[in-house]
Formats: sequence, structure tokens, C-alpha cells
Amino acid sequence: MTAALVVVGLATALQHGRIASASGVTSPAVASPRAAAASSAPAASARPRRTPATPRPTPVASAADLEALALRLRPPITGLAPGAIGDTFAETRGGHPHEATDIVAPRGTPVVAVDDGVIARLFTSVPGGLTVYELSADGAWTYYYAHLDRYPEGLHEGALVRAGDVLGYVGTTGNAGTTAHLHFAIMKRDTESSWWEGTAVDPYPLLRGARAGGH
Ligand SMILES: [Zn+2]
Repeated sequence: MTAALVVVGLATALQHGRIASASGVTSPAVASPRAAAASSAPAASARPRRTPATPRPTPVASAADLEALALRLRPPITGLAPGAIGDTFAETRGGHPHEATDIVAPRGTPVVAVDDGVIARLFTSVPGGLTVYELSADGAWTYYYAHLDRYPEGLHEGALVRAGDVLGYVGTTGNAGTTAHLHFAIMKRDTESSWWEGTAVDPYPLLRGARAGGH
């Protein structure tokens, strides 16, 4: 009976991606794209709803965290026109919180990394279309770029990128509608977070203060 319960508990934990190896890195079985796609594929909000049965403390971004981030981020699109960034974090899209910022730009406009990091996943989803998940070099943040028209040649998972490197091109893939735009989200993560997980923070005030030229 006890053993059965343990097995059930383990299966549940695995299902929800909560088993981490001793090093604190999520095990490959849990992080496999197949499993992720089947159980909790990222929505356009990049934040699939967690079932109520698996509460876990969510990573919290402190004011100091956000201040430091605002100082080092560069805009995901170079030479943004004033007003191109939508203050749309709190809006509801299709019954879900948007928790991202939409940046309108012509199709094909290069989308660049806002920060140094590593490509955690190149993922195609119904709502997000062609997407990039970039993990910041310090491991504290995930940057999510969605509705891309295409990726640049040679971009691959595991690639190290510098702020300003091209990650894709603005498009309308997924549920973007007819207006080409970049859907951009930032998630605060912790060592237990999988590539799609984290606590969404509003990119809008961060990007408004972002340096225009990068590093
Ligand atoms: Zn959006």
C-alpha cells in the first residue's frame, strides 16, 4: 500500500515536472519536448496553468531584481518607434491573462536577444507559433519571443547568444492575427523551473527604460 502510494506520488510529480536531479537540473525525462508538448505545451502566454493539486512556491522578482534587469535589457527590436510597445500585460486574451507585451513591427523585422543567454528551446505551439525560449546567462530569467515568421539560419537549442543577436523575424505565426507583431514575455525562474516555467513579470516598464543601442 505504501509502495503503491509512493509510486503514484512519483508519477504525479514526474507528470508535473517537479523531479530534479541532485544538481538541481531537471531530469531529461521530465524536460523532454515530447512530454512537455503532451502534458503542458506552452500557451502564447508562455505560462500553462498549473493544476491546483501541485502547488509550488513561485519564483518572486524583487524590486531590486527588476531594477537590475531594466538596466541591462536592450529592446528586442532595434530602433523601436515610440508607441510600438503595447502596455498589454494585464489584458485578457482568449480567457487567459496576456502576461506579455506586444510590439508591432513590419513582418521580417529582426528580433534580437534582449540579454546574454542560451537558447533553451525552439518551440512551435498553436497559440505562440514559432517561438524562442532564451534562458538568461545568470539563470534567473526566461525570455519568450513568439509569433516569429522564421528563425535565422543556424540558430539551435543550446546556442549561446549575446544581447543583440538575431533570434528570429517578426511574423504572424500562431494566434497572432493579421497584424505582424512580436509577443514578448519575461519569466522569473528558479532552479526548479523548467524551460517554460516561471513567474511572468511585465516587460513594458522594463523595456521603456531599455537602452536603445545594446552593449
Ligand atoms: Zn501577445
